[in-house]
Amino acid sequence: MNSRSPFETFRWHSEIFACYSNDIEQFERQLLQETTRLRLKPRVLGHIDGWPLQLWQSPSARAGLPSVLISSGFHGEEAAGPWGMLHFMSELSEALFDQVNLTLLPLANPTGFSKGHRFNRFGDNPNRGYLSVGDGAQPSVEGKLLLAHGQLLQAASRDGILTCHEDVLSQQTYLYAFEPRQQPGAFSHGLLSALANYFPITEAPAIDGCPVQEGIIFNHFDSSFEAWLVRSGAKNGACSETPAKANFDRRILANSAVMQQFITALCA
Ligand SMILES: [Zn+2]
Repeated sequence: MNSRSPFETFRWHSEIFACYSNDIEQFERQLLQETTRLRLKPRVLGHIDGWPLQLWQSPSARAGLPSVLISSGFHGEEAAGPWGMLHFMSELSEALFDQVNLTLLPLANPTGFSKGHRFNRFGDNPNRGYLSVGDGAQPSVEGKLLLAHGQLLQAASRDGILTCHEDVLSQQTYLYAFEPRQQPGAFSHGLLSALANYFPITEAPAIDGCPVQEGIIFNHFDSSFEAWLVRSGAKNGACSETPAKANFDRRILANSAVMQQFITALCA
């Protein structure tokens, strides 16, 4: 949305993690702890200003299992996504990897996250420029790294892509969803229900120029990371939006819950 300011800074305190939302050192420490415990395989796609752009994958991918990708932290001020992913990981056990080939991209925009502002430190939007849809957007440095690993990301998201965003202007939740059908199905409704356990669903008829029906913006292709992966073959896609005017820990728990629901839906 144009009225979101790219360099306005946001910072919240988490009681769950006992730190501030932009504490990237603490985030990296806890991420290393969880990824080590789960024996996830690291894959560094590149570096941005010294910070790694990193994927974490199931210890060994298996044929016949669904392959799904969960990502967060594209917009630096939308901090409950990455912290929610840490919370989600803390509740996983290695047994999950008998059911799914999981790839995690916890922090797509480390320089924005550490400052608590939307865009990266170079002033670019890391969630635009993946598809040519006439918006004229060029990929950011993060986008270029992700696009350069297109084959890897397409294989990782073959059965589904979830990306977790927040809306700093909102007190209500909503969802962008992609399914190969005319109307939202069980996949979309399941994710929205997980969010609705934490926040009221938006009653807005349109958001950022997109029509919203019962909290869902359906099959809307912009130049975002998630639209690109769906266009590239991911069977299901979603982008959750938690309301950043609500309590930070509640937003963390909602992000964790929507990630869990995504896994449950696609492993069924
Ligand atoms: Zn966002």
